[in-house]
Amino acid sequence: MKIGVISADSASECRVALTPDAVKKLRKLGFEVVIQSGAGQASYYADELYQAAGADIANSSIDVVTQSQIITTVNDLPATATDRLTSGQIVIGMLDPYRNSQLDTYAAKGATAFAMELLPRTLSRAQNMDVLSSQANLAGYKAVLLAANEYSRPFPMFMTSAGTVKPAKVVILGVGVAGLQAIATAKRLGAVVEASDLRPTAREQVESLGGKWLDVPMSAEEAETAKSTGGYAWTPSEQYIKDQAAIVDKALSNADIVITTAQIPGRQAPRLVHQATIAKMKAGSVLIDMAAGTGGNVEGSVPDETITTPNGVRIVGAANIPSQLAAQSSDLYANNLVNFITTLIAPAATDDATANTLALNLDMEDEIQGALAVTHEHQVRLAKR
Ligand code: NAD
Repeated sequence: MKIGVISADSASECRVALTPDAVKKLRKLGFEVVIQSGAGQASYYADELYQAAGADIANSSIDVVTQSQIITTVNDLPATATDRLTSGQIVIGMLDPYRNSQLDTYAAKGATAFAMELLPRTLSRAQNMDVLSSQANLAGYKAVLLAANEYSRPFPMFMTSAGTVKPAKVVILGVGVAGLQAIATAKRLGAVVEASDLRPTAREQVESLGGKWLDVPMSAEEAETAKSTGGYAWTPSEQYIKDQAAIVDKALSNADIVITTAQIPGRQAPRLVHQATIAKMKAGSVLIDMAAGTGGNVEGSVPDETITTPNGVRIVGAANIPSQLAAQSSDLYANNLVNFITTLIAPAATDDATANTLALNLDMEDEIQGALAVTHEHQVRLAKR
């Protein structure tokens, strides 16, 4: 059975779906692998490394699609490749299912498309397939470095004979996987950190990393809702949004660096920082909007652009930070995919696997496969949000 690797369709995506190490693992399991020439180049994996790992090289995405039973990708497939899919083929990637305009085509072609973002994350056997976590962890780290680079002062306190340098004040809004890593990284660099999240359970995590919790009051009813959502974000009331805006406004007027990470899976990111607040921020302060690609937490942020406001605030629209750490993010993403692909194979076949005996074990009743499959047997199966 052959697995294909398609090259990213955009200059702003440097990651690759499978690395040479992943190819070796898949070859050991009995798969053949074909990779589009140059697909790993921007992650520093040349075609020769894939060949040495046992992969074949194909000239185009169409060649990969026509040869492969399973097609792996970082983001959605290019339309030229989707167009060549045939019934029974499998596509695996971060397909951005709620904004994906190709799902009808995947279904019409009879392909089974797995969107890795839909993984049930609390399931312990799924944790080594969690692409959102593997990528967000790296993104949270890099966001702090991007901020440090934009900021014209250092992060740590310095005592020098020329005077004392104060530590940078960093505010993190949204403390999931990326936010926690951002707190840890900013603390390691010597910053003073404050952080906030809709989920009250994040408080303990913030404090255990040495950050100060910015508390937004919530009603008894909201506190109950927050508890019952199993650790995920809930929809805040107008009063909560108003109180949160006032707290953010106060914290940001003193901040040097702000990193926003708040996302709501399948929906537009919540707006947390408004123009009126930005207008009160200090000249030279830096805002990194990690949700710029999904609507933006920061009013006025532009995906993949850095803008300077009239009062001298730098706003970085960080739409795809994992791509800026492409070598490492590809390694982890590829591991996630290999772990998932392993579950698609019939258990008996993996014991004594050769390229000819591997058999697919597609099972929409399986809680991982069933959650990830957005098209199967000519149907779009995406649950409404
Ligand atoms: P995310 O990227 O979807 O969002 C980032 C953070 O923004 C979240 O903490 C969310 O609560 C917060 N947020 C959303 N809207 C907000 C708003 N209006 N105001 C303030 N904050 C807001 O989150 P994520 O990093 O993918 O993690 C989501 C949750 O999943 C977390 O509870 C995380 O601990 C949990 N998780 C669990 C597992 C597991 O059980 N194995 C693995 C990964 C993540």
